[in-house]
Amino acid sequence: MNVVVAVDGPAGSGKSSVSRAAAAKLGYAFVDTGAAYRALAWSVLEHGADPEDPDAVIRVLAAFRFESADDPDEHWVRVDGTDVTHAIREPRVTGAVSGIARVQAVREALNDGFRARLAAADPGVVVEGRDITTVVAPDADVRVLLTASPEVRAARRARQLPDLHHETVAQAIAERDAKDSQVVDFLEAADGVTTLDSTDLDFDGTVDALVGLVQERVPR
Ligand code: C5P
Repeated sequence: MNVVVAVDGPAGSGKSSVSRAAAAKLGYAFVDTGAAYRALAWSVLEHGADPEDPDAVIRVLAAFRFESADDPDEHWVRVDGTDVTHAIREPRVTGAVSGIARVQAVREALNDGFRARLAAADPGVVVEGRDITTVVAPDADVRVLLTASPEVRAARRARQLPDLHHETVAQAIAERDAKDSQVVDFLEAADGVTTLDSTDLDFDGTVDALVGLVQERVPR
């Protein structure tokens, strides 16, 4: 069996941690597509290249070797064998990632890698990112848009980044959503995609709701 659960959503919706926990409960693999975009942005900065220059980004992409854990209980990301698990979460990388994610050749190359991982997953995989239900896996068995109100998303991110002011985080999220939504529409559910609004749910409640959706749709 090869069940694909595709989860889209904006920054701060909790899609990464919720998808990871749901994958662990279901006994599925987990693919965090944002980690690949972040790793490429890290690599571009590491090469001293300009993330806003598509030609420079494509040159770095040509030599980009990315790996991340399939097991949701493991948590590592490597570029060319170097562990970048923590480095890719730094604000300088977050600031560079929308630029590289706009480059179509980047999206195509990374999407090929994601699709190969989805095809290999047994018995299933939860894959999350902004364009997963629409572009990467439109035929997924379960397609979910995980949302939350902008205020709740900002509050959750602020808790993850206690050194920053709430307004700074809210503004950074709004800016990243605005930039990302020029490339992919992740704020509206596409046809056949179920919206899971986590505004009034806590973390465990959101994970259970996602697991419940999978169990409803996928015969055991
Ligand atoms: O999900 P995360 O915040 O780690 O994603 C980082 C960035 O990678 C996003 O802001 C977006 O620019 C890009 N991204 C994307 N498509 C995906 C996943 C991430 O464009 N499927």
